[in-house]
This record gives sequence, C-alpha cells and structure tokens, in this order.
Amino acid sequence: MKVLAILYNGFKAAKAEPRLLGTVENELGLRAYLESQGHEYIVTSSKEGPDSDFQKHIADTDILITTPFHPGYLTKELMAKAKNLKVCVTAGVGSDHVDLNAAVDRKIQVLEVSGSNVVSVAEQVMMSILLLVRNFVPAHEQAISGQWQVSDIARNAFDLEGKVVGTLGAGRIGHRVLQRLVPFNTKELLYFDYKALPEEAEKAVGARRVEDLKEFVSQCDVVTVNAPLHEGTKGLINKDLLQHFKPGAWLVNTARGAICNADDVAAAVKSGQLRGYAGDVWNVQPAPADHPWRSMRNPLGGGNGMTPHYSGTTLDAQQRYAEGTKKILQNYFENKPQDPGNVIVGVGKYESASYGQR
Ligand code: NAD
Repeated sequence: MKVLAILYNGFKAAKAEPRLLGTVENELGLRAYLESQGHEYIVTSSKEGPDSDFQKHIADTDILITTPFHPGYLTKELMAKAKNLKVCVTAGVGSDHVDLNAAVDRKIQVLEVSGSNVVSVAEQVMMSILLLVRNFVPAHEQAISGQWQVSDIARNAFDLEGKVVGTLGAGRIGHRVLQRLVPFNTKELLYFDYKALPEEAEKAVGARRVEDLKEFVSQCDVVTVNAPLHEGTKGLINKDLLQHFKPGAWLVNTARGAICNADDVAAAVKSGQLRGYAGDVWNVQPAPADHPWRSMRNPLGGGNGMTPHYSGTTLDAQQRYAEGTKKILQNYFENKPQDPGNVIVGVGKYESASYGQR
C-alpha cells in the first residue's frame, strides 16, 4: 500500500533530536516498519496548492497520516481525487483537518491517537491561564529588555484564587484541566458540554454544568476552550457571544483556532473587553506573519499569550502519538479491531460523539 505522511520540517533540530518524531526528518519512526511490510512510505511537508506533494500523491494514496500541527487539509474536493484512500490517521488528537462528513460519504475511516497528548494540552492550558491572569508576558518582556517598572505590570496582574473558571468542552482535556484547577481554590469551576461529565468525575472536581452557553460565559472570569472543531463550534466565539462575556475576562483556546473569530477576538483584546487571549492554535497553520493574533495587545500592553501550535507536541507526546500511529496501522494491516476510542469516523458513520450532536 502507499502511505503518505504530511509532517512539519524539523531541519537541524530534528537531526540533533531524534525524539522529534513528528517531523519530516524522523518520519514518526515508521519507515523501517512500513518498508519491511512491503509498503511504500512518502513523507513530506509540502501541503498547499495543486503542485504540492500532498495534492500530487493523494491521487493514489491508500493511507494518509497527518498531524494537527502541520495539517494537510483534506477537503471534499481533494478527497474526490483520492481514489484509493481508505484510512486517514491523525498522529495526535483533533481530526478537523479532514472533511469528516465527506469521509463518512466516501466510507473512508478517520482514526486518531486519542488521549496521546491530552495531559500535554491540559498543562499548557494551566500555563496559559496563569500567564494571562498574572500578566506574565509584559513582566517577562521587561526582564529581558532591561526595564524595571513593577507598577506597569502589577496594575493588571491578579490571583487565580477566587476566580470563576469554566471549560467549554469537558472531554479528556477539559476534565483534566478541571482536575488541575482544583488546588487553586477558585471561586467556582463550571463547564459547558452537551455531554455531562460522569457523576463521580463531576463530584470529584466540584464542577457545575451550565446548559446555556451565554449564561456560561457570563459567569466566567476565565473561559478555556476544549472542544473539537466541527459545524457546531466553528466561529462559535464571535462578536455576538463576546458581548456576553464578563468585561475583562480572559480566554484561552488550545482547541482549534477557527472556534474563535480571529478579528472579533483581536478587537476584543485591543479594546480591553477581553483582558487577554492565549492559545497555540490558529485558524490557518502556519499562521501568516500579519495574523491579528500575533500583534494584538490589551490597552495596558499585555494580554497576548499566543504561541505556535506546540502544546500537544512535546517530546513525551510525540513518543505516544508515534507509537499510537504504528499501532493503528498494525491493526489495519492485520485486520484487527481498532481501539474504539480512536475511531472518529468508522466505515460510513461517525463513531465518536465528540464532533457534534447528530
Ligand atoms: P474529547 O473528544 O475527549 O472531548 C471533547 C469534548 O468536547 C466532548 O466532551 C464533547 O462533547 C465536547 N463538545 C463537542 N462539541 C461541543 C460544543 N459545541 N459545545 C460544548 N462541548 C462540545 O477531546 P479532547 O481529547 O478533550 O480534545 C479536544 C480538542 O482539543 C481536540 O478535538 C483538538 O481539537 C484539541 N487538541 C489540541 C491540541 C493542541 O496541541 N493544541 C492537542 C490535542 C487536542
């Protein structure tokens, strides 16, 4: 079979650090295995436009592997050209770069390594909440640029203790974020999800479910977004919903950039309506140099906690998703059942309930 992997370039770093498995150079550690089984393995980072390797090879690829960090966007149109495609594997978590409805129609399976980087992201969420609430970035900028003006930082720095924090999406990551927030003595922990947490889990973290989205955001000092991107979440956080946020709230989004309207969020940060926005996911990846999230700041000079998409690609996570990808391929080649938690789209139907209520 022909297996095509779209990965990011690691250049010198990947040569020096073999644990950067999710790079073009290190090929998810799959070449020896795939070639020993007689398969052809193409690895590339070239993914945009009709002349890209992605678009050229997709025509006769049987299995596509992509990472959310450098997503090969498999649109319905591109899928129509992929005559041999049977399986899409996401090396990581989050398969929105594949048109999942089209995959259902075409009976192409979509599998991901569920759980492989959920701790990595939950830790990043904690870091992002803290760096916004405590106004870390401008303080750090002072430290490295030779300045020392404590009042300029402290005027917009707060404690997390006593604040209301809510997660939009309380699945694997959202639940882990709630667990990690417990020792911070917040005033209250809230969640918004069409699936309730299991009773015991809800009790253990002491979180309250709010069933109306506007009511949910209006009660939170901090909102963290931990839901997949699908028709029901695309552009969900926009100008209209932002009006229901508490004035000066903080927003963290490590789920998917397109869940937020980029211009509306940037405008809200610039006006101070949001005190800050942090995340690592962008509506287009790599993000263009002039993306509004790169330069936005609140009126007091802080409030921007953006990074490139890396929270789920720590070296620890790369090991887990590389191993998980191999396991998925082995199961497929050997006709063994997949771990049900890894199946987003089975043959002709959604198997995961996380991509919207259907
Ligand atoms: P999960 O499937 O375990 O949980 C997702 C939860 O979101 C589910 O409980 C689902 O019911 C809920 N949900 C779906 N639509 C919703 C909506 N409209 N409103 C409220 N809740 C909704 O997934 P997970 O492992 O927690 O991951 C969540 C997402 O995080 C992934 O789909 C991916 O997009 C993103 N992610 C990002 C990174 C990163 O590196 N930044 C890494 C891993 C995952």
